[in-house]
Amino acid sequence: MIDFSPLLTSLASAEHPALRAWAEQLPAQLAQGLSAERWGDLPDWQATLAQLPSLEPSRVDLQTAVSVGDAGDCDEQTRQQLHSALMGLHPWRKGPYQLFGLTIYTEWRSDWKWDRVLPHLAPLKNRLVLDVGCGNGYHCWRMLGAGAQRVIGIDPSAKFVCQFSVLKHYLGNFPVDVLPLGIEQLPTDMQCFDSVFSMGVLYHRRSPMDHLKELKECLRPGGQLILETLIIQGGPGEVLVPEGRYAKMRNVWFLPSPDTLLSWLRKCGFKNPRMVDCTRTTPGEQRSTAWMTYESLPDFLDPADQTRTVEGHPGPIRAVFVTES
Ligand code: SAH
Repeated sequence: MIDFSPLLTSLASAEHPALRAWAEQLPAQLAQGLSAERWGDLPDWQATLAQLPSLEPSRVDLQTAVSVGDAGDCDEQTRQQLHSALMGLHPWRKGPYQLFGLTIYTEWRSDWKWDRVLPHLAPLKNRLVLDVGCGNGYHCWRMLGAGAQRVIGIDPSAKFVCQFSVLKHYLGNFPVDVLPLGIEQLPTDMQCFDSVFSMGVLYHRRSPMDHLKELKECLRPGGQLILETLIIQGGPGEVLVPEGRYAKMRNVWFLPSPDTLLSWLRKCGFKNPRMVDCTRTTPGEQRSTAWMTYESLPDFLDPADQTRTVEGHPGPIRAVFVTES
């Protein structure tokens, strides 16, 4: 499994006292987040990880993609072994990843989201970054590729942490980690991260104001929040709270209009919040593939009207907001 000790060592000697205090709590939290009592299939995923071939990448690109090694770094039989180990961690939702001549065509073109976000960031160079709800960590690698000093992703799903550890298996020395934690498990009022990302998480939270407050507590004064979420078109005060499912998802709570979300951010004490991108999600960006064979966006939209979900709600539009603490 993943070796968290380089992270723990680095946190234990960090300048910021909140990071040093966190380092003391973390080992117990990591053990709890990756326990077989909680995740019945975890031993199978770990067995899958143990089948990953040992390979040395001759080349790594985290700047224009997440691309590790070349086809020439391994023979066909080894690539087959890699392919079947990766398939043991199906479904692959966030990516794509290139690994030794294989491409993991994930459900999402997460690189498209990154292209929309990147031009609006305070430069990540030398920053300590937190990615809340990072999934399998795709964007964490891209944040490192954009110059971050260290990236810590958190996501409560142990399966996503296992997918991340495939990449970590080949890039062990890179200062990026994905921890099996939810945001509510972070110590309160850490105020130590230079940049905090929350992408694709807000609408899954039952209490969006509390989520914004938790994000603010993670940031150092003057640090930047990058918030990406589903929105609806509309004016100040408008918000959709779907009573049943939204695009077949059960756990969707609040879809604000841009003006509503900007006012929430101001109310939570963020400075100068602005919307920097707004894009309708298309079946080009989210679809089923050989690496994610379940239903996807084309099945969630009304076949007669692609701007509506199957439930008749406005179809998914995602917006990116940036703001300072
Ligand atoms: N940030 C990625 C993934 C978004 S999917 C992207 O933009 O592509 C939303 C993720 O939030 C899921 O991986 C889910 O496991 C995670 N999540 C759910 N509840 C969470 C919580 N309480 N704290 C942190 N992450 C959470």
